[in-house]
Amino acid sequence: MFNRYFNRHIMIVLVINCGSSSIKYQLLDMKNADVYDLLAKGLVEKIGLPEGCLTHKPAGKQVLVREQPIADHKVGMKLVLDALVDPEYGVIRNFDDIEAVGHRIVQGADFFSGSALVDEDVMKKIEICCDFAPLHNPAHILGIRAMQNVLPDVPQVVTFDTAFHQTMEPYAYMYALPWEYYEKYRVRRYGAHGTSHQYVSRRGAEFAGIDLNNSKIITCHIGNGSSVTAIRNGKCVDTSMGFTPLEGMIMGTRCGIIDANIVPYIMKKENLTPDQMTQILNKKSGFLGISGVSSDARDMMRLIDEGDKKAKIVMKKLTFDIAKLVGGYIAELNGVDLIIFTAGIGENNAKLRRRVCEQLGYMGVRIDSEANENAHDETMISTPDSSVKVAMIPTNEELVIARDTMEIVQNLI
Ligand code: ADP
Repeated sequence: MFNRYFNRHIMIVLVINCGSSSIKYQLLDMKNADVYDLLAKGLVEKIGLPEGCLTHKPAGKQVLVREQPIADHKVGMKLVLDALVDPEYGVIRNFDDIEAVGHRIVQGADFFSGSALVDEDVMKKIEICCDFAPLHNPAHILGIRAMQNVLPDVPQVVTFDTAFHQTMEPYAYMYALPWEYYEKYRVRRYGAHGTSHQYVSRRGAEFAGIDLNNSKIITCHIGNGSSVTAIRNGKCVDTSMGFTPLEGMIMGTRCGIIDANIVPYIMKKENLTPDQMTQILNKKSGFLGISGVSSDARDMMRLIDEGDKKAKIVMKKLTFDIAKLVGGYIAELNGVDLIIFTAGIGENNAKLRRRVCEQLGYMGVRIDSEANENAHDETMISTPDSSVKVAMIPTNEELVIARDTMEIVQNLI
């Protein structure tokens, strides 16, 4: 039933999100910019390790799990494509059905304020940005190269997590460091999760009946990684992630904002190299660092029920970190029309949403408890008499990537 020849469609787009040892993918049959069928989605894990695994979920068919060593990203991409055309688990007839590939790229620095068609100049710039996203950009490059290898004739597009934030003014993106570090090393705020903030702000404005071009919106993307963004008239004004995704609030394994002097202090005391310290700040801090148990918010909620004091600190810190950011951005925007919660925690943790909004009660924000508790899809969780609208909008980064890919590739024709 998903065969392209029987369905009116504009383009079948493969969306790829490559990590250093993983490939997440979705195959979308785009009917137009807003309407699509999700043909399949899946995950390749543990690339480079002996126990590699592909989990392929085709729409309306059984899930395929294939466990085998996956030497590199090229082998991983080939596995994905083979699953997509598999006689039993496949959703398309052959590779030619894939008309474009869209890649999520974490860091595009100030090179990119929008998505781009992949060519060697674009690849060079993504490579320069590896310096600012050493855990992500090298993996994205591997993914693009692997895809060029297995689908050489298919156009590829890159969508950057940083692009939406390129409208920030210098006061918001400059750090109060010697100017030369900006000029020599491009040290400035770039932000992240831009695709998500862009999607939920536009979708949220539509859902709330607000004119995006005349609006003040604050988006809270609260997941494993979390960021809050201030948006005026559809454009990013400020965002909590910084030079890298480390800045901002407490996250699953990232510390968020700390006094920068703590870094050299601990390095000296513990005799740590810069790489070891980077690992601690990014991978061993946050929920995991404080609780000593887990980076997952669901575990924190369970531990709180069991009386765990550290987990309680984690969730209280998360609540107030968000409230402080939202409060600060209300001041920066000089008001707010709509506050949006999204991503793993923002979409699923009603208690957190309620607690954050309670901190804004002084200015007339009122939450509809029942709507908030039962919000599983796009939901207005504020009461009609609330001074500010508050909504839960599930994010859909893949749709933005597929849309941009489709638009850029259509313009080639
Ligand atoms: P990532 O940044 O890796 O994309 P997600 O946006 O998926 O992360 O968010 C992961 C977080 O969301 C985890 O802390 C997890 O506990 C939380 N989460 C995901 N699903 C649920 C759920 N159904 N109920 C409560 N929390 C959830």
